[in-house]
Amino acid sequence: MAERVIPLIDERLAPLAATVPVNAAPPTGLLTDTRGRPLRDLRISVTDRCNFRCSYCMPKEVFDKHYRYLPHSDLLSFEEITRLARLFLAHGVRKIRLTGGEPLLRKDLDKLVAQLSALRTLEGQVPDLTLTTNGSLLARKARALKAAGLQRVTVSLDSLDDAVFRRMNDVDFPVAEVLAGIEAAQAAGFAHIKVNMVVKRGTNDHEIPALARHFRGTGITLRFIEYMDVGATNGWRMDEVLPSAEVIARLQADLPLVPLAAQSPGETAQRWGYAGADGRHDPRLGEVGTISSVTQAFCGDCNRARLSMEGRLYLCLFAAQGWDLRSLLRGGASDEQISAAVAHIWQGRSDRYSELRASLPPDQGQGRRRIEMSYIGG
Ligand code: SAM
Ligand code: SF4
Ligand code: SF4
Repeated sequence: MAERVIPLIDERLAPLAATVPVNAAPPTGLLTDTRGRPLRDLRISVTDRCNFRCSYCMPKEVFDKHYRYLPHSDLLSFEEITRLARLFLAHGVRKIRLTGGEPLLRKDLDKLVAQLSALRTLEGQVPDLTLTTNGSLLARKARALKAAGLQRVTVSLDSLDDAVFRRMNDVDFPVAEVLAGIEAAQAAGFAHIKVNMVVKRGTNDHEIPALARHFRGTGITLRFIEYMDVGATNGWRMDEVLPSAEVIARLQADLPLVPLAAQSPGETAQRWGYAGADGRHDPRLGEVGTISSVTQAFCGDCNRARLSMEGRLYLCLFAAQGWDLRSLLRGGASDEQISAAVAHIWQGRSDRYSELRASLPPDQGQGRRRIEMSYIGG
């Protein structure tokens, strides 16, 4: 029998030990990293598993039946996640996004949502609690998630053409079920739903106008995401990236757009409003967003921390290693100690991969070992 070739990739490189500094001060919410960036956004990946095999994220050849996912005992419990989230909120986090893998595969996710929505930001507000999902299980789960306190959802959808969609998810999943999931989310009362389309030149870029027309005027915001060189398994090539500027140029021909101002600092998407007959933004038609991680780096105000399902803290989507918070959690550290360790890690942060991408030598840029998108989420 032919031996299976194991790719020279292990996204779970040994973690970095999180140390508790002596003389730690209590959190003030004013924490900044070495580039003056505050900590405002926490993305929590709740599972490394997914029922899709999008080739840009979990290519089948790598994520096959031999792939070793984490055992359940390695995953943070909901209580552990909630404890960490509470400590991050005290450091100034205002927004929490649940992601994965496919987060809706994690059993009883609504219970985690309920625990997180009981937390408060430093300002005493309910944190902005949101979820990114492939939508496959949304029809079944939207109501329970809404009832548990989830505020917003983002659904990934790369094509409306069933054949293209089935090919891109690579598990033959029908697009109609994702559309039903979006409808269920609307019916459950979610407002401001977002739809993320990863645009791959030559694969689904011809679908851009169809998606735009489908969601224009529905209150759902479509966002075009540049295909990124995350992880080390998707065989990324620059010539498959369709720059956001080109996406907008293609749309302008038929559906005039005007640039809109950012709503908050650190916002990843550039906003474009559909113009009415007078050439100005018509709010009834809504807006689209472009996320240009490749052609227009936004590291300068990146305020996002990422927590993996096994409790590692990553400071950048393109990081190779994360900081092991689970050892602190399970080793009996106090809230004060964990909080001080988090502060220490953030204060040492200097990551800005997208800004450096083009100038990095090959062993630091493409080809460098780093975590997968399916491990750390978007
Ligand atoms: N499974 C969920 C989903 O697909 O929405 C959540 C996790 S997924 C990793 C989060 C987001 O990352 C999705 O919107 C997905 O399209 C995006 N993504 C994954 N790989 C990507 C890549 N190589 N470039 C750009 N976006 C990517
Ligand atoms: Fe799964 Fe989301 Fe990755 Fe697609 S993008 S393989 S749905 S985790
Ligand atoms: Fe933030 Fe890293 Fe992305 Fe730059 S490359 S925007 S630092 S996650």
